[in-house]
Amino acid sequence: MMDAMTPRRMRVITIANQKGGVGKTTTAINLATALAAVGRQTLLIDLDPQGNASTGLGIDRDDREVSSYDVLVEKASVTEASMPTAVPNLFLVPSTLDLLGLEMEISGATGRAYRLRDALHFHTMEGAQFDFVLIDCPPSLNLLTVNAMAAADSILVPLQCEFFALEGLSQLLQTVEQVRDSLNPALTLHGIVLTMFDGRNNLAAQVVNDVRSYMGRHVYDTVIPRNVRVSEAPSFGKPAILYDMKCPGSQAYIRLASEVIQRERRLEVA
Ligand code: ADP
Ligand code: MG
Repeated sequence: MMDAMTPRRMRVITIANQKGGVGKTTTAINLATALAAVGRQTLLIDLDPQGNASTGLGIDRDDREVSSYDVLVEKASVTEASMPTAVPNLFLVPSTLDLLGLEMEISGATGRAYRLRDALHFHTMEGAQFDFVLIDCPPSLNLLTVNAMAAADSILVPLQCEFFALEGLSQLLQTVEQVRDSLNPALTLHGIVLTMFDGRNNLAAQVVNDVRSYMGRHVYDTVIPRNVRVSEAPSFGKPAILYDMKCPGSQAYIRLASEVIQRERRLEVA
């Protein structure tokens, strides 16, 4: 039983893929919402200077007083930077364009790859408030993504169901391997989620088969369908799950969340 005396077991999951437009942010927002909806205290950290996760959760630029940039330059703690969202149990560390300059600013600093890890570690020492921390990465393997990988227990990779899906994956897995060797030996691959699946497209089904045969048990059973309702939701500043919970995309993200929780349970007993 969880009580005030039991420290929370906080799981940090980084959502990464150096390709843009593969569904990282959509997955971050909707997986976080689905985890929060089943009562998990959840924090989404927006590490992309574009700030799509922040916008998609309805947080306007003017309201982003303390941001992930402030955490990475050690001006604010994770607690200070976390703001509530319209989703109960879901908090956000928003991003701002300041992040664009971060790499230059801290390029000479020792421990620059550990800024986020240290901030989350401090948060745990304070008595962590969260069960899950999800980190939405920019579309590159830069210092921001490396910080996110160094801070994580595991990586979740969205792959778009298209011909070039597997291209780039080996580079990503190589980076994960490098981070494991140098910065974070405990880092694991949480799983690969296939996104924007279009059932009318034979190629998409072939891609699903290829990825499953190549990556085996790492691929989640849940495949996220291409769904207009999912792509409309951010313009209303809402997760798809709030905008239209019944649409197939939202339902898929709800199933993905239960797979994520099941995998966590398995890791816990292992
Ligand atoms: P990334 O963060 O990897 O760049 P996004 O999550 O922003 O990718 O998705 C890229 C685009 O595809 C966005 O316009 C988004 O709304 C759209 N999109 C993502 N997932 C789906 C989906 N399941 N169905 C329809 N559109 C989607
Ligand atoms: Mg994104």
